[in-house]
Parts: sequence; structure tokens; C-alpha cells
Amino acid sequence: MSVEDWLIGELKEKKGLSDDKIDTMIKEKQNQFPSLNREAAIRMIATQNGITPIKRNFKINEITEESSHINVSGRVKRKFEPRAIKIKGREGRVMNLNLEDETGNINLVVWDEKVIDYINSGVSEGDEVSIANAYSKKNKLTGSLELHVGSGTAISVTNKSSNRQENIKYDKIKDITEENKIYHLKGFIARLFTNDIYLVRCTECNKKVNVTCDVHGDKFLSKTLLITGIIDDGVSSMKISFFDKTAEKLLSLSKSNTIEEKLNDLSFGLYQVEIAATARKFNDVFSLTARDIKPLTYNMDKI
Ligand SMILES: [Zn+2]
Repeated sequence: MSVEDWLIGELKEKKGLSDDKIDTMIKEKQNQFPSLNREAAIRMIATQNGITPIKRNFKINEITEESSHINVSGRVKRKFEPRAIKIKGREGRVMNLNLEDETGNINLVVWDEKVIDYINSGVSEGDEVSIANAYSKKNKLTGSLELHVGSGTAISVTNKSSNRQENIKYDKIKDITEENKIYHLKGFIARLFTNDIYLVRCTECNKKVNVTCDVHGDKFLSKTLLITGIIDDGVSSMKISFFDKTAEKLLSLSKSNTIEEKLNDLSFGLYQVEIAATARKFNDVFSLTARDIKPLTYNMDKI
């Protein structure tokens, strides 16, 4: 099932929208943003309707056609040595793995040098791994589907085959249990709440105000960026806030021109990032305050 079909299914099921209604919404979006392709428009509509545009936990036998944004977990059945190959005239490497779960197995093709290095040193046969944002492609020779791991794909070991030294580089959102602790995460910006992105304060009262301060009017107002959204590591998600400089850094990930366009672009669930964030707890619910954000290159069409 393609991501498009899946998202349309979600919109029908969760929002009660008809095919006609969804078609109309897609056309409206594309009129509004002429550069959007159909899939991007559907992602945007899904996001705006509260649906995280990432299908979690594909089972291997559910990968039945070429599609992108595949999240899957499984056990590394075989790990092969990287091979040197020529890609578009340049020397590169490719590495193959075979991944299995209870429904079947699939060959993994790893193109990204950094991911190859990570797998070489940190992943062994028998390890359970979680893969986010891979894409499936037909092997031209065999005709069977393979899962491609590029620079936009996240792969992490969730369970070592032996309990020797664990090589965990990132924290998992589901393991966030300590208030005020800094966690290092790798994931996707699954959604940004784009309607209200400024925090207005009266510096004299040191309080948040709506438009002006009841006491000081607009004399001591300071306006800083405060962008909230959802970060998703492929297994679970959490609300995250970006203040001021970190919010600017977040916006700078997008090459779009205006803040509005940047926010829309970043809301698609297409940006993979590394984040350092402090865990906050409010009414027993955890959320994150970002302290730093770095892009992880998202480039599906490199090969
Ligand atoms: Zn005041």
C-alpha cells in the first residue's frame, strides 16, 4: 500500500471524509501551493487534520509495492560485507542486509556511507533493529522488492542479540521518564502547530501577555519565536517546543522563503533531525524543550 493510499484511508476512517471531498481538498491545496505534488498535498491535509503522516510498523509482508517513508522493525538475519561500486561514475559503497520479522524477510540495500559505518561497527546478525523512512524498490534483476536505506533513513538497534556492550547512540522517546534531563533523539518533525508562533512577554512584569500588558501597555513588550510541534522517532512521538534561537535554527532547515512557507514545509513529516531536548512534565504528561537541532540530510533521490 502506498503512503498516499494509506493517508487517504486514514482521512476517510478517522475524519469521515469522502473520496470526493478529499479530491477537492487536494486540488485546493495544489491551487494554493502550485509546487506541491499530490503526495505532499495529501501529507499536508493529513497533518492539518491531526494525522501524523508516517505509517508506523510496516510488517515485512505489507511492503508490496514501491513506496517511500517506510518504518519497519525486524531482526538482522544476515549481514554482508560492504562492496565497492561505481555510482554515477564515482566510487561508493553499498551494503546488504537481510531483515526478517514474523511475516517474512526482505533484503536491505544501504547506500549511505554514514549508515554503512554505523552498521559495520554497531549492528550484528541477530540484532533487532528499527528502521525509519526507508523506501522500497524493485530489484531490476530479480524483480523482488528491496528496502533501500539512504541518507534520509534512520536505523537503530533496539535489542542486541547478545547482551554485550550496547551501542545505543540515541535515546528513545518512549524511554523519556526523567524530568529536566537532557535527551538526545533522532527522529522526524511529524507536525508543527503553525497558527501561533510568537511568545509575547512584558519584560517589566516578566510575564507572558496576550497582546499588551495590563499594567505597562506595549512599552516593555518582547516578542520571541516559540514554535511547538511533534517529534516522532518511528516508535512514538512527543510534543516539543522550540524557543528563540533554536526556533530560528528549526526554521533554517527549510529552504523556503517566508516563515509561513518554512512552517508548512517543515510540517510535512519529511525532516529528519537530531535533537537535544530537556524533558518537562506538566500534569503528568511529558513534553520536550529543544536545546539544539541539527538536520540529517534527507535525500531520497541521491542514487
Ligand atoms: Zn507589564
